[in-house]
Amino acid sequence: MIIPFVGQVPDEERDQWVQTIGELLPQVTLVPFAALSETDRQKASVAIVANPNPAEILKLPNLKWIHSVWAGVERLVAELKDTDLPIVRLIDPELTRVMTEAVLAWTFYLHRDMPHYKQQQQTGQWNPLPYVRADRRKIGVLGLGVLGASAAVQLKENGFDVIGWSRSAKDIPTVPCESGDEGLVRVIARSDFLVCLLPLTEQTKGLMSVEKLSLLPTGASVINFARGPIFDYDALVDLLDKGHLNHAVLDVFDQEPLPADHQLWKHSAVTVLPHIAAQTDVQTASEIVARNISQYLVDGSLPKLVDRKTGY
Ligand code: NAP
Repeated sequence: MIIPFVGQVPDEERDQWVQTIGELLPQVTLVPFAALSETDRQKASVAIVANPNPAEILKLPNLKWIHSVWAGVERLVAELKDTDLPIVRLIDPELTRVMTEAVLAWTFYLHRDMPHYKQQQQTGQWNPLPYVRADRRKIGVLGLGVLGASAAVQLKENGFDVIGWSRSAKDIPTVPCESGDEGLVRVIARSDFLVCLLPLTEQTKGLMSVEKLSLLPTGASVINFARGPIFDYDALVDLLDKGHLNHAVLDVFDQEPLPADHQLWKHSAVTVLPHIAAQTDVQTASEIVARNISQYLVDGSLPKLVDRKTGY
């Protein structure tokens, strides 16, 4: 059986995926899209994809489903909106662990006032801020899916005062949860640090508007590890400039890489990260993809699918 690998990734990365997944699936032959014959294209029933060109997916007319090696699928969902091709996204406990570590790392960065002390050092100032206990830091986590729920629980474990928010109501034993529009307002209005781990969908695009950001308490900070277009970054910068907000840690942007002349690079109240909060681990991701495909080959069952209506 031939399984196409369809992706717009550097050749070296493509070869790494093909080799690693190929070794774990000896019963199939993994072939990069460009190397497929017309017969292979007709026969393919499942494809493994990494930021694929949708035109190439459409050249595989008998696909039953596709498995993405990425966790965020907003581009796939948008680009394949005229098809009902089932999409499986990557859900990898290692990715969850790494994202949770990133949320903890950058929350502690804000909690222990590191941006403040970094600036002081640049101007040779010795000006200690009063210590604030972790349990007096109110943290709001937007999105309580695979990544957000884990981050919220670990923030709580580390002593912070955490509340989460998601579309449907959640019951997480140690973390109070809100849902719905009014719940969002309550979470934002109490958050000293707001952590975003929502997927980018039609509903979440622009969700963190000037109105919503203005609801944050004076001196609040923001961590966006989800997707750039969920936030109005111009409004965010304006609120940072006015001193309403303290700091923003941003890992994701409308355009990536962030253009060299973008104002965010030089803003003293912004930490720019190059989309590194949780990078995919090729080995662990390949093991999950291989396991899902093996199961499909044994009994035809598919893993949990992306909901094409909600977009995540
Ligand atoms: P997930 O398991 O699908 O969880 C999404 C969460 O967001 C769910 O709790 C969902 O609510 C909630 N949600 C979705 N739409 C909502 C809405 N309109 N209003 C309120 N809540 C809403 O996703 P995940 O695996 O945790 O990943 C989240 C995102 O992280 C990904 O989509 C990706 O963009 C981003 N990500 C970033 C990096 C990075 O390195 N920066 C790495 C990996 C992933 P329900 O629970 O009610 O469904």
